[in-house]
Amino acid sequence: MALSSTEVKKLSAESLTQSDIEYFRSRYGKRFVRALQVVEENKVVKYQFQPSNTTTWIVRGRGRQYMVIPKIYCTCRSFYQDVVISREINMCYHLLAQQIAEIRNLYDNIDSSDAERRKMYVEWRRTD
Ligand SMILES: [Zn+2]
Repeated sequence: MALSSTEVKKLSAESLTQSDIEYFRSRYGKRFVRALQVVEENKVVKYQFQPSNTTTWIVRGRGRQYMVIPKIYCTCRSFYQDVVISREINMCYHLLAQQIAEIRNLYDNIDSSDAERRKMYVEWRRTD
């Protein structure tokens, strides 16, 4: 579920060339376009909780928020259905968006407390 080193290199560049975009579109289709869109719309958030100093990545979707464990897991329906069950794809667009956001340093940082995290986890851990 991780991007290849070639892909990381392309995404690290200041701006994506047309051929890079075509490459990603041929590989990830519409998911790449959606991932870029949510990154540009600042919908990828990195929460840092204290005092445990733990990190949680969130992608704000249309109706709700999805918790992403980088390169491993996402709480969205597509991850469950298309990645785990049917294995049609190897990552949903949230997983893609998180990696793009981290590589391009385009995410919101939010500092919060462990007490707040416990409250937010109730919502984040939903997988319906
Ligand atoms: Zn997802």
